Amino acid sequence: MNRYAVFGQPIAHSLSPRIHAAFGAQFGIAIDYRAIEAGRETFAATLEAFARDGGRGANVTLPLKEDAVVLCDALSDRARRCGSVNTLLREGERWAGDSTDGVGLLRDLARHGIDARGLRVLLLGAGGAARAAAFAFLDAGARELVVTNRTAARAQALAHVLGPPARTCAWDALRHQAAFDLVVNATSAGHAGDAFDWPLAAGATPAACYDLSYGRAARPFLAAARAAHARAMHDGLGMLVEQAAESFERWHGVRPETTPVHEQVRAMLDARG
Ligand code: NAP
Repeated sequence: MNRYAVFGQPIAHSLSPRIHAAFGAQFGIAIDYRAIEAGRETFAATLEAFARDGGRGANVTLPLKEDAVVLCDALSDRARRCGSVNTLLREGERWAGDSTDGVGLLRDLARHGIDARGLRVLLLGAGGAARAAAFAFLDAGARELVVTNRTAARAQALAHVLGPPARTCAWDALRHQAAFDLVVNATSAGHAGDAFDWPLAAGATPAACYDLSYGRAARPFLAAARAAHARAMHDGLGMLVEQAAESFERWHGVRPETTPVHEQVRAMLDARG
């Protein structure tokens, strides 16, 4: 059987094996998809062994998305642009890399009735996921994209590559900004569990807030958004399912239904508490 896997560290609690099994069941495809623990030092050798063992496709998550770029012999345009690979496809003796995070985010926003076209968007973070999100927002026709990051130089570098209508704003200066249509948290700050320090002025109520994280990691940002009276709040579980659907289609040539799988993993996540 062809083998598939998600690589990362930590990876034990990954929902990806369940998501891909559920997609496969829609088409009667029995999927051998496993979670494989690999850190930055072991990733290259682990991926090579996986390919020798029948590996045909892989997802890559923290902290390996940039390392995966280097291990690919070919990159899709969107992976090259954002310098990040979350999907690997075995083509003969080589790996081709793609990035499905940006399109996954846009599809999930659309599921929530949010179209980025014409919106004024604030993006918190400048890591791999933020880069994928930033290009996706510009492709979708965002009117303005303000990028801010704890390490300001990374936000400046990202805005420079993006060009207008992207620009940066120092985190501390966000309190002087007018209200945004959409505030997107693409930082990993929530994983530490600390309260999220809401950076916007009290009167600058955002229309919608979205955290790329899900589960416990999304709670601090979403709680802060609620306290700021944001009109809509969403976590990134739907993005996880949508980016997985895009990977699944690349590997198997068919597009799965995401709504029932989203409901299934939401129930699993709620049960974890
Ligand atoms: P990453 O490349 O490691 O980037 C982390 C980002 O978070 C950087 O901008 C970093 O700022 C910032 N950050 C970390 N700790 C912070 C803190 N205490 N306060 C403020 N900023 C902080 O990670 P990534 O791959 O972009 O992932 C970011 C988040 O998105 C993670 O929570 C990940 O789980 C989530 N994600 C979700 C999906 C999905 O499908 N739903 C897909 C991809 C990623 P510095 O530059 O200053 O270090």
